[in-house]
Amino acid sequence: MDKESLRNPIRAALFGHAVGDALGVPVEFTSRKELAQNPVTSMLGFGTYNVPPGTWSDDASLSFCLAEALTEPFNLHSIANNFVRWANENFWTPYGVVFDIGNTTRWAIQRLAIGIDPHIAGAIDEASNGNGSLMRILPLAFTIYNQPIEDRFERIRQVSTLTHGHIHSVVACFYYIEFALELLRHSDKYSAYQSLQKTVPAFLDSHFKNTEKLDIFDRLLKNDISAIDEGKIESSGFVLHTLEAAIWCLLKTESYESAVLKAINLGEDTDTTAAVTGGLAGLLYGIDSIPTHWKTVIARHADIEDLAYRFWANL
Ligand SMILES: [Mg+2]
Repeated sequence: MDKESLRNPIRAALFGHAVGDALGVPVEFTSRKELAQNPVTSMLGFGTYNVPPGTWSDDASLSFCLAEALTEPFNLHSIANNFVRWANENFWTPYGVVFDIGNTTRWAIQRLAIGIDPHIAGAIDEASNGNGSLMRILPLAFTIYNQPIEDRFERIRQVSTLTHGHIHSVVACFYYIEFALELLRHSDKYSAYQSLQKTVPAFLDSHFKNTEKLDIFDRLLKNDISAIDEGKIESSGFVLHTLEAAIWCLLKTESYESAVLKAINLGEDTDTTAAVTGGLAGLLYGIDSIPTHWKTVIARHADIEDLAYRFWANL
């Protein structure tokens, strides 16, 4: 891949992710059963947080904070500083207010704010495996795509660990970024998935020597997740559930629109499931596949275009 070929994928990833987030915000915490009776089919507003249509949340905010820091040479302190600016100064918020922040993320950002080393700021206990680093990791893909897999893993580990340092969060982020990179290399999502199922387990087996309880990823790594019934795909805020649901939605649908709506209608953590799905769906189907009325209704869409350009220009 050369730099020129990444111009539109960067736009597709940022918009695909933010549009999914905004579609999910009004129905966050709604159950699957309720959504089955009254499914989301369009960009709504208000609802859970009483915000207008097109309002994205922490998922997109922190992704933009990451992308903003990556417009300069990689510096973990700069990324940390942007996260602190988001929480404390409303940096990269849709309308100047932070209205949605996870517990583990809040705890870690408070630690970053008082000067704790960003390499060790995030929680490392097994209970701290919400989807808070997975939901904001995607921009990193574009800065590491031509690095060896060991270096990619280490960068992903560092950036996840700003808030979420447990190996399950780190491996979820790694799997997700590797899927994104496979989608850049393959036009067919099943080829991407099959390629990933060779490279990721091989790397994890050699890197971890089977001591890290990574079998929780077996449905993604060793089986065909698309063969699993919807009733066995969960959509809570647990990082594994979000990753599984996103890959499942991507594999079970044939357009950007149907992928993100399927993610939302799984219920519960709708905005994050749809954001994580939408980033990959944007990459798979391209920037023009995202309905124009969704792209133009989202808050600060011109600023997002500008960020995408600056991010790309400085790769
Ligand atoms: Mg959110």
